This record gives sequence, C-alpha cells and structure tokens, in this order.
Amino acid sequence: MAETDIVCPLCGGSLEYWKEYLVTKTQSIFKNGTIARTVKTSKPEEVSGMRLEGFQCTKCNWVFNNINEIDKMEKYPHLEEWFESHDDEIKV
Ligand SMILES: [Zn+2]
Repeated sequence: MAETDIVCPLCGGSLEYWKEYLVTKTQSIFKNGTIARTVKTSKPEEVSGMRLEGFQCTKCNWVFNNINEIDKMEKYPHLEEWFESHDDEIKV
C-alpha cells in the first residue's frame, strides 16, 4: 500500500470516520418508587465547544481522535488532508 492511501496505517484495513455526540437517557420514576420501563433518549447533541471525532480501522483496533492524539494526526498528514477535503461530505 502507498503511504498516502486512506487506509489503516497499521494493517491496511479500511477506515471509518466517527464523531461522538452527547445523548441523555432518562427513565421516569413513579411516586410509589417503581421505575418506568420506557427509556427516553434525547436527540444527539454535539458536545459544546469541541468536535470529538477521528478515524478508526474496521479490522484492527487502531483508532484516534482529534483531541487526545493530535500528534498522531500530524504524523499522518494525508489523513488530515483527506479530512479537510471531505469535510462537506461527512454526514454524521
Ligand atoms: Zn488496522
């Protein structure tokens, strides 16, 4: 594989883009103390002030995010370039 292929740098597997959202799950509690079976889930919200996102390999456990492993992102400039040039196509 070429060094600039958009694949996992470790195993050559396909990559996925991921992004984390914040959801809140709630269950009602009745006055007699029993808890409702229904679980309500809030609409996914972006974590305010940051975009927690990154790539992960579909084959091995290679993963990184843009917050904790920014150095890794700099190590793979072709992934960073891919990310920047596909920003408008990312739907998650
Ligand atoms: Zn991999």
